[in-house]
Amino acid sequence: MEEFLPYLREIWESRMLTNNGALHARLEQALKARLMVERLQLTANATLGLMCALRALQVSGRVITTPFTFVATVHALRWCGLEPVFADIDPDTLNLDPDRAAAAVGPGVTAILPVHCFGTPCDTTRLGLLARHHGLKLIYDAAHAFDVSDAGGSILRHGDASVVSFHATKVFSTSEGGAVVSATADTADRVARCRNFGFTADIDTDELGLNAKLGELNAALGLAQLPHIDAQRRRRQAIDRRYREGLASLEGLSLLPEPANWRGNHAYFPVFVKDGFAITRDQLHAKLRAAHIDSRRYFYPLVTWHSEYRSLPSASASHVPAATRVANEVLCLPMHAGLTDDEQDRVIDAVLNAASHAPAASRRMPA
Ligand SMILES: *Cc1c(COP(=O)(O)O)cnc(C)c1O
Repeated sequence: MEEFLPYLREIWESRMLTNNGALHARLEQALKARLMVERLQLTANATLGLMCALRALQVSGRVITTPFTFVATVHALRWCGLEPVFADIDPDTLNLDPDRAAAAVGPGVTAILPVHCFGTPCDTTRLGLLARHHGLKLIYDAAHAFDVSDAGGSILRHGDASVVSFHATKVFSTSEGGAVVSATADTADRVARCRNFGFTADIDTDELGLNAKLGELNAALGLAQLPHIDAQRRRRQAIDRRYREGLASLEGLSLLPEPANWRGNHAYFPVFVKDGFAITRDQLHAKLRAAHIDSRRYFYPLVTWHSEYRSLPSASASHVPAATRVANEVLCLPMHAGLTDDEQDRVIDAVLNAASHAPAASRRMPA
């Protein structure tokens, strides 16, 4: 709060509320330094950021993407008049499987839109080779991947563009907000025009832009939060470790592998409720809710089950079996820097309890 007030005063006194204000410029600079990227443009949110990136890169026709994502990834394609082509995920990383993406390349495909799901880096090497080989644009939905890096540096340096989200539920937040990181100055210029109605100079527009600008109040929230992100990450890392210790021995409950040659942001803590667990994923979700513990079934229902997409040929469950299975198993436990040890113990106890005291009738029957 003490950090936020001076920014508010500055906005009040400058009477500059939006349109590339001083705080907006400062946040862009600070984020470029923090995320180790050369070109970054703030947007009003990541959904509009994805649309600006797709537009800036002149993507047309069909785009290969993952079904295991938040619906915004695929909605952004549709808003740009593009057809999603779903390819299955690698069940170990939950990210687009490069082999399945390769098999999905076909007539009309001009781009790939993978997601660094839960902050786990995609196989950027193989996806990059695939895109280059077929002359496809490569845009990463990096909504979960704020401040994630691999052995070579920021995860955001891969592909033609990456889009980060600063929504209130993400690890770094401007309430609503996002950013596009571009590989070239040309893409960055186009993104900048696209987010501002397509204006070139003051009055002409040379493309169909929209309003995707981030306002000064949002930029102020970002600037006030930046000094805290290292401490918050360390706190989430400690929570991650405690969950792993607390849940390690549970039969039928599997976890994501820990970061190996990359640095994660511990944005989420998904668990996977397998057949060997005492109760089903939905029963565990309900039990936690009854104990006033807010767990989330990300991403269930799968995007390919939504009415908007289920009639696409690539949306059938048999085409995306790994994503289908994971959607039925996944549950994200509470994970945020404000979670206390006591609160976390309550979560762990509730999961352990659910595992050991399942009434026989609720045990999952063998298929
Ligand atoms: C949150 C999210 C988005 C959308 O971000 P907004 O900033 O809310 O528009 C897109 N993709 C994924 C994977 C997300 O989790």
